Amino acid sequence: MSTETENVVIVGSGPAGYTAALYTARADLKPLVIEGFAWGGLLQNTTDVENYPGYPEGVLGPEMMQQLRDQAERFGTRFITDDADRVELSDGGLQRVFLGDEEHVANSIILARGAEPRRLGLPGELELSGRGVSTCGVCDGAFFKGEEVVVIGGGDSAMEDAMFVAKYASKLTIIHRRDEFRATKIMLDRASAKENIELKTPFIPEEFIAGDDGKLRAVRFRHSDSGETEEMEVGGAFVAIGHIPRSELVADQIETDEDGYVRTDAKSTRTNLTGVFAIGDLVDNIYRQAVTAAGTGCMGALDAEWYLRDTPPDPEAHWGSDPGEVAEATA
Ligand code: NAP
Repeated sequence: MSTETENVVIVGSGPAGYTAALYTARADLKPLVIEGFAWGGLLQNTTDVENYPGYPEGVLGPEMMQQLRDQAERFGTRFITDDADRVELSDGGLQRVFLGDEEHVANSIILARGAEPRRLGLPGELELSGRGVSTCGVCDGAFFKGEEVVVIGGGDSAMEDAMFVAKYASKLTIIHRRDEFRATKIMLDRASAKENIELKTPFIPEEFIAGDDGKLRAVRFRHSDSGETEEMEVGGAFVAIGHIPRSELVADQIETDEDGYVRTDAKSTRTNLTGVFAIGDLVDNIYRQAVTAAGTGCMGALDAEWYLRDTPPDPEAHWGSDPGEVAEATA
């Protein structure tokens, strides 16, 4: 149980969370970051990052996350390397974050839990996860040396996964449900140019089938037009069909869009709750880049800083009727 009321608690990490930590730390707000057990977010599962300004030779995702974390730490950020399991948001009052019995209370909160890989929801998908079915090509590609594999999806993630996994696989088939790809042209061209990569459309995956050894043996697909099904014998299947925002801790307390992304006011990180800010992939279903996430991290920090500077303008208007809460929050 924490006794001190923090200025700002940041829930989540990645480029957004660590940038928010850097800025709030430099503003002397002494941020507390609940960075998650898998700290660093999705970039921990990435190899070369070539599109983050300032790294002319590129940088490994995990190395970059360590550097962002170190930079925030240098100015006094404190980290808890665990997952929050409950958050109690308040409209202008005290924000509460729980890790088991441990409670952290803050005058403002910045939500930065990012997004996670979307799943197909098919038979065998979860059962064979780690036994041939994966959502992370960069993490698991090397396990499939010399094997035939499929990558399911038609976006940039699918192309990126395919290009990485194809370094190891003997043959890789990208299966997509439509003839048109959502991926950017450059990514699609690069993937298509690989000798051992084949594109197969329009096919809808139906089932991941286990072999006698309990590992993935085949994937069954259905042709979207003819409805004919076929089984493809593979050692590995990578599901790369996008991401879903990790808003489940707050979704019933805060405004989100129909896909669960936290809504923020235009040109800011302010949510519909006063003192609650949201940044990074948790709010962004369009750009989803490390550099844009970092940018919103900066915005979230400044929004929180300005809020703390100006709060509470009118306790009656924002803080409800609990005098204890007002007294504690303004102390
Ligand atoms: P995405 O662009 O949303 O693409 C998801 C793909 O999965 C789509 O092709 C979609 O098909 C397919 N899909 C979704 N649900 C499906 C289902 N139930 N069954 C079969 N297929 C399904 O997601 P993303 O590829 O993760 O990319 C997200 C963003 O990150 C994009 O802006 C992208 O440019 C960016 N990104 C960039 C890079 C890079 O530059 N290196 C790498 C990765 C991602 P439909 O097309 O039919 O909807």
